[in-house]
This record gives sequence, structure tokens and C-alpha cells, in this order.
Amino acid sequence: MSDKTILIVEDEQAIADSIAFALGKEGFTPHHVMLGEQALAAARDLAPALVILDVGLPDISGLDVCRRLRQFSEAPVIFLTARSDEIDRIVGLEIGADDYVTKPFSPRELVARVRVILRRAGNGNGNGAVPAAQATPPAASRTPAFELRAAEARILFAGQPLDLTRYEYLLLKTLVEHPGHVLSRAQLMDRVWCDAPETLDRTVDAHVKSLRAKLRAIDDNADPIQTHRGMGYSLQPGA
Ligand code: CA
Repeated sequence: MSDKTILIVEDEQAIADSIAFALGKEGFTPHHVMLGEQALAAARDLAPALVILDVGLPDISGLDVCRRLRQFSEAPVIFLTARSDEIDRIVGLEIGADDYVTKPFSPRELVARVRVILRRAGNGNGNGAVPAAQATPPAASRTPAFELRAAEARILFAGQPLDLTRYEYLLLKTLVEHPGHVLSRAQLMDRVWCDAPETLDRTVDAHVKSLRAKLRAIDDNADPIQTHRGMGYSLQPGA
């Protein structure tokens, strides 16, 4: 396999371009295709080190592409998804996805994940990568106490709607979408405060604090947001 070639399967040219640019800057060789069938052909021809795969493709679903890819390749797959209900399907299908990223996302963050997965997968063993999903499954389960209603920009906790500011909502949404994942302050700032580059670490901490207070107002024993000293925050899976 080629340990620098990354296959991008994405039907939106602008998104593909921004990913390809970020990958190229980091020394990778991006190869972009628009359709699922092209992706399977390219994966055979190029033996990429990793595949970035949009779920919503015009010809066949990214999930089906992944399933068919797995018949001949163990290259790690990062899914791109625009819809939170797709995440359940990605996680539930056990088709060997190594990670997923919800749109909109920062290309820089995506490239950072590519690096982590390739390192974890033991890039350069010459025999295709071991699916990293075996080591660290993506988002084990949705946290049942939370219900994300992305279309309404609303999150319910224990069946009750939370009254959240915009940043509190985006912060909690990010945590809920990645239960059990430790997200650093930098990652949270990247995702939640992407339109506010002056954000400080303590802004993240202050919003976590106000979120905790709002969760406790509904259930005074609830403390589902965990602090990982020096690392960041995570949402307890199954909280
Ligand atoms: Ca798409």
C-alpha cells in the first residue's frame, strides 16, 4: 500500500478541496473521487493508507462503499456525515469504520485524526492497516440520558429540554456526539468556537461549568461531563 495516499470520497467539490489542501500541506497525497463506484475502483488501484468517505453519495451510500471496501481492503475509514442520525448507523453497522466527523468540520482537525489513526494502525506494515476500530471503537453508544434534536437546535436531558446558549448547545452537542471520547480544550474550541478565534481555555471551562449547573438543575445527582486533568472533557457513555 501507499502509506501517504489518502482517498477522499466526497461529492461536494468545495469540501473535498479543503480536505485535499489540508492533507497536501501535511505531506499526504490526496486522491479525490466523487462517486462510490469510483471510490472502490480507486481503492483497488491505489491501495490508499486511509479512506475519508462521505456517507451521502449520489450513487451508492458511503456505508455500502465501506462494506464492499472491506471485502478487499483493511484501510482505515473515516466517515463524513452531515446528519446525527447517520452516526448511529455508522457505529451500529460494525463495518469497520475507524472514526467519523460531522459536517461542518475543520479540515485541520480531520487531518489530525488521520494522523492519529494511521499511527494507531501501525502505518507502513506493508500489509494494509489493522482497523483501528478494534483498538478504540468510535462512540460506543449514544448517551441515553441525552436526546439530540439537531433540526431544532435543542438537547433534552432526562426527557426535559435544556435552555442553552448557542455555545453551550454546540459544546454539549459535540460531547453527546462523542460519548466516552476525551476532547481537548483545543478540539472543543476548534469545533464549538470556530467563529471566535480569540477563545481561551477558560472560556471552555466556564461553559462546562454552566452546563453542569443546568444539568444538575434537572437532576441534582447528574454529573455526566467528566474532567480529565490536563487532557480535556468527555461525556460519560451511558450517563
Ligand atoms: Ca454528500
